[in-house]
Amino acid sequence: MSRAWNFSAGPAALPEAVLRRAQAELLEWNGAHASVMEISHRGKAFMEMAARVEADLRELLAVPSGYKVLFLQGGATQHFAQVPMNLCADGQRADYVVNGHWGEKAASEASAYAVPNVAASSKADGYTSIPDRATWDLDPHAAYVHVTTNETIHGVEMHDVPDVGGVPLVADMSSDILSHPLDVSKFGLIYAGAQKNIGPSGLVVMIVREDLLERQPRPLPRIFRYAEQAAANSMLNTPNTWGWYVAGLTFQWLKEQGGLAGMERRNRAKAATLYQAIDGSGGYYRNRVRPEARSRMNVIFNLQDATLEPVFVPEAERAGLLALKGHRALGGIRASLYNAVPLEAVQALCAFMSEFARRHG
Ligand SMILES: *Cc1c(COP(=O)(O)O)cnc(C)c1O
Repeated sequence: MSRAWNFSAGPAALPEAVLRRAQAELLEWNGAHASVMEISHRGKAFMEMAARVEADLRELLAVPSGYKVLFLQGGATQHFAQVPMNLCADGQRADYVVNGHWGEKAASEASAYAVPNVAASSKADGYTSIPDRATWDLDPHAAYVHVTTNETIHGVEMHDVPDVGGVPLVADMSSDILSHPLDVSKFGLIYAGAQKNIGPSGLVVMIVREDLLERQPRPLPRIFRYAEQAAANSMLNTPNTWGWYVAGLTFQWLKEQGGLAGMERRNRAKAATLYQAIDGSGGYYRNRVRPEARSRMNVIFNLQDATLEPVFVPEAERAGLLALKGHRALGGIRASLYNAVPLEAVQALCAFMSEFARRHG
């Protein structure tokens, strides 16, 4: 068996310790004489585990009282539609700050249930910056303000939580949740697909302020109502039990790593190492993102000679560095440095980059 360094953007690397624990417990979990995937979600063992997983997440993010934590399905994309369904009245405006592909999608998917307004966008500079807060055109009567804290494809990250006054701040944190400590009290609703920093795809973790669950802008099937999911402890129907379990292993691993402060230190060091290799390459490698908006999770770059990019990716793979091809919409190279990617992997990538530049210089 040989596991390579995995820079996949998603589904992405999981901590090896998490995979080993899941492997060890796969056939028989927790004295159940069956795997965790083969037992009732309504049984005592699973319910206790589910509650512990939620408690660990609350501890990691210091979630204040007055917030519900939900373990949902459908991927982040489903919630692009479900958030306005639950929070926005017909004809009401919802403000979207767009700094990349996912924000664009979130705004366009909202239009069946809201009047989405692009309050600010960095499209004009090719999504290489975060629009200056002073320029945001916000409506104080909007249902919410939506941001994408890390744009996975464009490699752009919002490093400060914006002040949007009394309007609830809604954030898609699919690709940077749990990568640093967060002041949850500044948000009305946070949602994240699991497959970047948490666990298997198909699971969505949501943290939502209880007063927002009281909004009932329209009749909805129960399964689409966040308030119903909250009342049923995310078990209105059969949840993604395997995803919930693996998320729990990841949360325990994060606690062992020193929690989110420890994670942030590592993530800063990893990103700094790679950006230094790019910036110090004399132009051989280039990243166009404004320094203050550079993502610590997804580092995108181009080679000065773009014809070498299709050579770089397979050579890197042969050197044990996986999934470095940029998103099809942008091309170039993308290295995703989620929590589970160790500094050692980044150092191996930097060594490969300098050797590649020497050979193909
Ligand atoms: C990956 C990603 C998504 C899409 O997630 P799905 O689970 O495929 O729906 C949405 N937003 C961001 C920021 C992402 O990184």
